[in-house]
Amino acid sequence: MIPRRHFLRWTAAALGSVCLPRLWADEPGTYRVRRGDTLSGIARRFGVTVDALRSANGLRGDRILVGQVILIPGLRGELFHEVRAGESLSVIARRYSITVASLREANGLRDDRIYAGQRLRIPVPQTGHEEPSPFLAPVVAATIGLDIDRSRWRHIVAHHSAVNRGNAAMYDRFHREQRRMVNGLAYHFVIGNGTDSGDGVIEIGNRWLGQLDGGHVRNHAVNTSGIGICLVGNFEETRPTRRQLDSLIELIEFLRRECAAVSCRFAVHREIDRGHTVCPGRYFPTTALHRRFN
Ligand SMILES: [Zn+2]
Repeated sequence: MIPRRHFLRWTAAALGSVCLPRLWADEPGTYRVRRGDTLSGIARRFGVTVDALRSANGLRGDRILVGQVILIPGLRGELFHEVRAGESLSVIARRYSITVASLREANGLRDDRIYAGQRLRIPVPQTGHEEPSPFLAPVVAATIGLDIDRSRWRHIVAHHSAVNRGNAAMYDRFHREQRRMVNGLAYHFVIGNGTDSGDGVIEIGNRWLGQLDGGHVRNHAVNTSGIGICLVGNFEETRPTRRQLDSLIELIEFLRRECAAVSCRFAVHREIDRGHTVCPGRYFPTTALHRRFN
């Protein structure tokens, strides 16, 4: 079994103080319903009861709508783990990089006995990470509820759009209609340059929300194991903006810290599909980013 999903939910609590772009904003401690979600599924995911969800949201039945924002009681600043059959305290402690002693203490346990279905409070490690910027905050919020197989993501690949303007929706349409890609937008994220989306704004693609393969390189193995990030602009002609680069760096740091394999490497498109493309262009700071990340 591959280790899954151990986001530090406390980051959701940190989002309260920043001002988020309206379109992307979800309040901390909330979850936006996606296609296929059920109330009981959401309850299980966040380790709360269906009744608690109902009463926190004033719901009578089980009916929820795609796009509806659900309040998750107890989510603010807290991290819980539901024990699965066969898991021991030491396995759980290792998974969250904490000690067995601190896990015992946080849950008032006298010995190492736990049972499947038990809900354990995970003491939040002092990471020293800064609060996410208003550009990263929506990514953190959207990513908290995803079921991510960290070991899968072994590459982060940067692209330029090769055109001076655009946004995720426009590239999505292009990839569907011209490239005949059923999953649309080939990248997982698009970072705007102030033309058709805000300068530095990180747009989240459906391939990230659905944890789908990318369609951003020719190399099939890298499409299944690489997170694709596209910066709007043609960097054969111009440079990325300061804000685009700040957002890119913050996004990569977040993805590597919370979502990707330990061995995850940063690359640019032309290093993956050698000889086929100049992407992300000569003015993209490839060397500086390699120095920073690899
Ligand atoms: Zn590219």
